[in-house]
Amino acid sequence: MTSTSAHDVALEAVALSKTYASDGQDVAAVRDVDLQVGHGDLMAVMGPSGCGKSTLLHLLGGLARPTTGRALVDGVDLASMSDRELAEVRRTKVGFVFQAFNLVPVLTAAENVALPALIAGRSRAWAEARANELLGAVGLRDRHAQRPKQLSGGEQQRVAIARALVMEPSVLLADEPTGNLDSRTGRDIVQLLLELNQRGQTVVLVTHDVKVAGVAGRLVVMRDGQVQERSRPDAPAAGTPDTIDRLVDIDDAADLPW
Ligand code: ADP
Ligand code: MG
Repeated sequence: MTSTSAHDVALEAVALSKTYASDGQDVAAVRDVDLQVGHGDLMAVMGPSGCGKSTLLHLLGGLARPTTGRALVDGVDLASMSDRELAEVRRTKVGFVFQAFNLVPVLTAAENVALPALIAGRSRAWAEARANELLGAVGLRDRHAQRPKQLSGGEQQRVAIARALVMEPSVLLADEPTGNLDSRTGRDIVQLLLELNQRGQTVVLVTHDVKVAGVAGRLVVMRDGQVQERSRPDAPAAGTPDTIDRLVDIDDAADLPW
């Protein structure tokens, strides 16, 4: 692992484990994971269904508590936090994007984006201005007054991404964000994530798409709750125009450089 000063680390897992008790049987969803995600990184996480990808993301973002081990966001240990402090971290330090867009149906696009800021105590004026700025950044300037059902799947995911960014989180955690989209629309969403990373946003992206993994600066493969980082000697700088071109060029796993 490259040496990184504590200051550069957005996310860290230290001997992180999560065991679920299910029907009297223990399921070790995440097992003894050590991982660091630096500020500005784009990390792809791949692995078969059930290997623990979602659980790992939830632990890293404070959506779930580990059984043992620690998760740190910007160097701050989530384990020592009260439920209230953890909720604050989820609202302000991490942004989540899910496969299901999880928008509030009765709210407009702009209101959906503004909502986490209002919950975090920002003024209505601040939240509205920020929502409009972010809807512009995700290519939906003209759609701010639409409700989710008036938007396409790709547009709904753009709203969800804007919502995840409203509090300027240290890291954007995206769990199979293209899983409900057709491949063309999914590609557009990935391109948006790459562009956000290019502008400095730290992104952790769970994906089954080898093309997407092929453009990420870092690739982690998960199996049975454990992670293995694949070294990428020729890893492209994340989100550069060159990597966006590669998204189109890579046709299957055989084309990947590892
Ligand atoms: P992935 O996202 O890679 O598909 P998950 O993190 O969702 O994997 O699940 C990892 C393992 O943990 C699976 O065996 C799954 O069945 C189990 N699991 C996940 N969530 C729960 C839960 N809330 N209760 C019990 N078992 C769970
Ligand atoms: Mg999952």
